[in-house]
Amino acid sequence: MLQPSAALRRILSHLTPIAPLPAERVPLLDALGRALAEEVRTERPLPAFDRSEMDGYALRGADVPSAGARLPIAFEIFTGGKPPPALPPGSCCRIFTGAPLPAGADAVEMQEQVRRNRGQAIFNRPGEPGRFVQPAGSDLSAGEVALPAGRVLDPGALGLAASLGRSQLLVHRRPRVAILATGDELSPVDRPLGRNQIIDSNSHALAGACIEAGAVPLLLPIAGDRIEALQAGIEAARGSDLLVTSGGVSVGAKDLVRDALHRAGARLHLWRVAVRPGKPFAFGLWGRTAVFGLPGNPASALVTFELFVRPALRALAGLRGAGRTMITGRLTAPTDKPIELTVYLRTRAHWRGDDLWLTPLATQRSGHATSITGFEALAVLPKGATHLGKGARVEALLVAPPGALADNPPRSDR
Ligand code: AMP
Ligand code: MG
Repeated sequence: MLQPSAALRRILSHLTPIAPLPAERVPLLDALGRALAEEVRTERPLPAFDRSEMDGYALRGADVPSAGARLPIAFEIFTGGKPPPALPPGSCCRIFTGAPLPAGADAVEMQEQVRRNRGQAIFNRPGEPGRFVQPAGSDLSAGEVALPAGRVLDPGALGLAASLGRSQLLVHRRPRVAILATGDELSPVDRPLGRNQIIDSNSHALAGACIEAGAVPLLLPIAGDRIEALQAGIEAARGSDLLVTSGGVSVGAKDLVRDALHRAGARLHLWRVAVRPGKPFAFGLWGRTAVFGLPGNPASALVTFELFVRPALRALAGLRGAGRTMITGRLTAPTDKPIELTVYLRTRAHWRGDDLWLTPLATQRSGHATSITGFEALAVLPKGATHLGKGARVEALLVAPPGALADNPPRSDR
């Protein structure tokens, strides 16, 4: 059986023909967190004119050779006003942060270093050409690359693009993910529940995980455990970038999802990974739609989403990696595991001194709905190990900052 790292490599290699997704032009705010699909260059120098970096006085450095020198104050320059006249030789002018330097001036002195007396400025120290001046083009010159293609657009990148006059950006499309819950026992969350039925929770957890990963989920109607129903569900995903199914992918008599995918024309490239939770995971391609068959148990679905679907979504969106941090932590409780599996424990993470401690959630049963919320880390218990003692050091995949999901944070944390 494939180890998870090998499974992820295989998945990503099969995505290369469809990743990254095509680009679209969007308003600036819609570009947040997405990958830039163009090179953004400046048209004009930034800043476009020499600006003052201080509230103070603009001058020629040479006109203030020593401390105590005095210059008459010729005029005032405010930000946003009309262009200032040239500075007469042997004079200075009042200026404010961000205002354009007058022609002739080559320096600004901050007002804390200047006294005023009868229309004259008296300087505490010699003038220095260039002091407190932000020259035109010092941030970026005309035609320079401000943001390279592929750059992840953080809030600052939106600000930089805006300073160049860009109200729209070309970015990679968000992946559209069709989510198909399968199982005869499933009932939608907003319908009366029949006997022996359970509510479909996976669709909602998985849709949330999609949104968190920057994708757009589409919840399809639940499909029962019949080939025709499953095929109709698969058909409803046509045009989506991903199809994520849950349930029906294991070895039960009614686990028909793989069969339905085959019949719909999908090619499966992977089935079963040596992980817990989530062993009966399947992956394939259906035309240009990537298909992920997740196991039905809530924790299995969510953990395999985290391990395999999330990195795939990011690759499609033109983003690198899983967007998560791996960190070493220590287990607060001993645990046993099968030797051949990599086990992902849902744990709360918290710092004590220099150690990050990982406390397993009270239940690790993959069928327990309470086992899929409130964990900040997946502790990775490696293949080959059978027992990890209290205090054992393990790698952990942080899905939230340590302590971020703790209930009732103590006052000092707020
Ligand atoms: P399966 O993978 O179809 O064998 O399902 C494994 C377990 O997960 C069963 O107990 C199912 O009832 C449960 N399950 C399957 N799909 C869902 C779902 N969408 N929401 C909640 N539980 C589910
Ligand atoms: Mg089932």
